[in-house]
Amino acid sequence: MDFDIKSFTYPGADKAALGQLALTLTKGQFVGICGRTGSGKSTLLRLLLRQYDDAAVSIQLNGVDHQQFSLDQLRSRFALVAQEPFLFSATIAQNIAFGKPLASRAEIEQVARLACVHDDIVQFQDGYETMLGEKGVNLSGGQKQRLTIARALLLDADVLLFDDAFCSLDMQTEARILDNLITSGQQKTIVLITQRLTNLNKADQIVVLDQGRISESGAHRELIAGNGWYARIFKRQSLEIKTSG
Ligand code: ATP
Ligand code: MG
Repeated sequence: MDFDIKSFTYPGADKAALGQLALTLTKGQFVGICGRTGSGKSTLLRLLLRQYDDAAVSIQLNGVDHQQFSLDQLRSRFALVAQEPFLFSATIAQNIAFGKPLASRAEIEQVARLACVHDDIVQFQDGYETMLGEKGVNLSGGQKQRLTIARALLLDADVLLFDDAFCSLDMQTEARILDNLITSGQQKTIVLITQRLTNLNKADQIVVLDQGRISESGAHRELIAGNGWYARIFKRQSLEIKTSG
């Protein structure tokens, strides 16, 4: 995936959300995208999914301009997990299988295990048949997030897009899910937007955005050696973990 963005301004906005930005994401890699709030991380995903079209934005997928695909074709290649989990008043199994209604129970369980939510589900009296929403049980924020992660894993997309989708999980659970994804042999490209840098040391590539531009990029060690925003925030967050035990 090659992004070549001259600039991008939201319709009606007076300031560009993204400035000049060129970025290549390699197939099968785990890419971390971070940077302070408002730096343009989610905007990058919105442009990738063509929620906005703009002549100054060119994105190529395996050498093909992404405008060439129909929206359905394009979006079927990506599985997006948004920051706000979206669940229906339906059973847990139906919620996981939302994008693939004909999925078997075995497939549903497999992705629930990968997303570290299977053990939670079987604790409920009705297990996978538990109703959610007004007429059913309420889940914790972390359980909701893990269900929407499982849902994304069930799709036949080759790229997983996580937009701050681990923010309600503790670091260990986040790490376990990421390890599951990396070792599950699905060979999917993982794009992880996160405020928490502690699990990015496993990323093949990390990109830091600042005011709509790339301010740093490279592997974890390179960014630490670079002593910029990434190194500073990483050290601060590592200290917070140590002091909070
Ligand atoms: P966060 O970490 O808080 O999610 P972000 O890095 O994802 O931030 P974006 O949502 O990409 O940031 O926003 C980038 C810039 O574009 C911000 O200045 C934001 O105010 C602006 N912006 C985002 N969405 C819109 C919109 N729909 N219309 C106008 N401006 C927008
Ligand atoms: Mg965002």
